[in-house]
Amino acid sequence: MRAQQDTAGGLRHLITLDGLDREALTGILDRAESYRRLPGQPAYEGRELAGTTVANLFFEPSTRTRASFDLASRRLGAHVLNLDVNSSSRAKGETMLDTIYTLEAMNTDVFVIRDSEPGMPEFLIDHVAPHVSVISAGEAHVSHPTQGLLDALTIRIHKRRFAGLKVAIVGDIKHSRVARSTVRALQTLGTTDLRIVGPESLLPGEHEFQGAQRFTRLEDGIAGADVVMMLRIQKERMAQSASLDDAAYFREFGLDLRRLRLASPEALVMHPGPMNRGVEISSEVADGPRSVIREQVNNGVAVRMAVLAAIAATLTRHRRPL
Ligand code: ASP
Repeated sequence: MRAQQDTAGGLRHLITLDGLDREALTGILDRAESYRRLPGQPAYEGRELAGTTVANLFFEPSTRTRASFDLASRRLGAHVLNLDVNSSSRAKGETMLDTIYTLEAMNTDVFVIRDSEPGMPEFLIDHVAPHVSVISAGEAHVSHPTQGLLDALTIRIHKRRFAGLKVAIVGDIKHSRVARSTVRALQTLGTTDLRIVGPESLLPGEHEFQGAQRFTRLEDGIAGADVVMMLRIQKERMAQSASLDDAAYFREFGLDLRRLRLASPEALVMHPGPMNRGVEISSEVADGPRSVIREQVNNGVAVRMAVLAAIAATLTRHRRPL
């Protein structure tokens, strides 16, 4: 695989958080904090992406990620192309690479890609032109790097540290790209007490999530936790999901107010969305005072601006001269 950073350490692509060190992640979080504006404040508007064209290619459904890449690009002055993939050439059988080469020929500089095929982003960074960048907006169950970063930013804003925190991630860990990227981010940034919690059938194989403790009882997994992150059951990634009963799942693994009391009194409740209220989380918790779920959405825009700006700064060094 081609490197995600150039020899000067500049970000060329972002398809995984693996291999990015603490300094690289901290640099993105610092930049994101400078772009962050609260709802009601005027959004940051800049020219960091002036002259850059960003194409959003989402071959899986997305609400938050797609909207936030779109806003992030526009707020930094980019031209944005949102391809309607249902009517695009891929639906007619054109390969992903042909679609990319077509858009490259129109001077597209950055491709933001979500796809259900593992390995697609890696394949693309090996084949795009040297002046083009690829950002993964979600790769199958494998990785979702900007989500990992926005989760880390949300935790940093509230806790101002990563070391010494107890972080529990609860639910369908096996099929979750969010869990994989968020755990990678937090481990790189210094969190050592990481817990993955869920029914045995939704926990990944032992070779994955090394360094995290595994729990099959919610009560044990969230005891004393500083952060409790709830995940959706990803039925779309399961061959057989009919046997999963939502009410029975909520009784065992749903986060309600009574269970939340087992975590630290200062615990943050997180969820990447989309939420299934009454399945993995109750409405009182999702909308309650410990919830930072909408802050995660807000931070998602800032993180995507930071990643795009870092990539645009690197790209200027790799452009063809006029
Ligand atoms: N939005 C997240 C993702 O794309 C989580 C989810 O879909 O449950 O992976």
